[in-house]
Amino acid sequence: MTRDFVFPGLTTRVIFGSGTLGQVAAEVERLGHSRALVLSTPHQKNQAQALAETLGATAAGVFAGAAMHTPTDVTETALAAYRASGATCVISLGGGSTTGLGKAIAVRCGADQVVIPTTYAGSEMTDILGETAGGEKTTRRDPAIRPEVVIYDVDLTLSLPVALTVTSALNAIAHAMEGFYAPDRNPVVEAMCRDAMRAFHRALPVLVGEPENRGARADALYAAWCCSTMLGQVSMALHHKLAHVLGGSFGLPHAETHAVLLPHTTAFNAVAVPELLSPIADVFGSPAGAGLWDFAERLGAPLRLADLGLAEVDLDRAADLALKNAYWNPRPFSRDEMRNLLQAAYEGRRPTN
Ligand code: NAD
Repeated sequence: MTRDFVFPGLTTRVIFGSGTLGQVAAEVERLGHSRALVLSTPHQKNQAQALAETLGATAAGVFAGAAMHTPTDVTETALAAYRASGATCVISLGGGSTTGLGKAIAVRCGADQVVIPTTYAGSEMTDILGETAGGEKTTRRDPAIRPEVVIYDVDLTLSLPVALTVTSALNAIAHAMEGFYAPDRNPVVEAMCRDAMRAFHRALPVLVGEPENRGARADALYAAWCCSTMLGQVSMALHHKLAHVLGGSFGLPHAETHAVLLPHTTAFNAVAVPELLSPIADVFGSPAGAGLWDFAERLGAPLRLADLGLAEVDLDRAADLALKNAYWNPRPFSRDEMRNLLQAAYEGRRPTN
């Protein structure tokens, strides 16, 4: 029997394949622009410059200062560079940090965005922007944030280091995990979540041994597109709140934090909604939290918050922050339950659910 649902539609144009980087100029032109600023992190500056060279006069320059959690001071500097360059469009080449910078520019001045994702983090298809100022991360949703065009090029993911491949994919799986129980989910989201689980489950063990396996890279990038698309359609809950607290207030690395939390938040919520999370157990093993923990261990993913630089004394404050603003979760929780969950993730214990 079909539930009642609302499908908000998909507005972002998506190009997926190999060698698709060659279509960037045509897409900028299709949006009606003749000058675009290329964005990247310092690490991917050479790649951004190479892209700018192939774009010729369409490239208005390169800003290679994107940073994790989109600090607003970096955005201000980038915005000044954007205005000085005469560009009317940004091209974000990189992971979630670079996509975040493009979104931050777009929401401030109306620039169109062409995004070329090179990790599996999944910011590119969403209307969500998280920004950091004064040590606190705030998140907002706005249709003006959602990129106009996303170009997935499997070739660009061949260089993604194995460790980031694994944590970035677990980050994407965390979006899908919360998508399975999101109150505003719809059948398109559910189908994409299920397909993404199977594709990641197939691809990741291959990529750990053979990072340049093109078939597995294509599978993983396809799964990342599914997870990003569904993230752009539904609300997130406890898992994302905790990741947000640990990243924004304690400076923990984004993808690794999601990877460590995922088995614990899954196990916690599976107590309340086991049937909704059964697609995870079906793919990764039952019960769902333990199945995800075993999968992460097999891939060599980080398992303990202790290894990500969090001090045990910070767990109390993290638990307090997790309860600070009320938000929906399928399983209501107390401060003690949150503290216990964080302790288990800190120690990297295998969940029993
Ligand atoms: P990242 O973008 O910071 O990338 C990590 C590092 O890997 C960077 O140095 C980057 O240059 C490098 N890198 C990226 N792709 C590479 C490749 N193919 N080969 C070699 N090196 C590569 O990390 P991330 O995990 O992709 O993104 C994390 C950020 O994204 C966080 O700030 C998070 O909040 C945000 N995010 C936002 C949303 C959203 O919807 N708003 C969704 C997911 C993530």
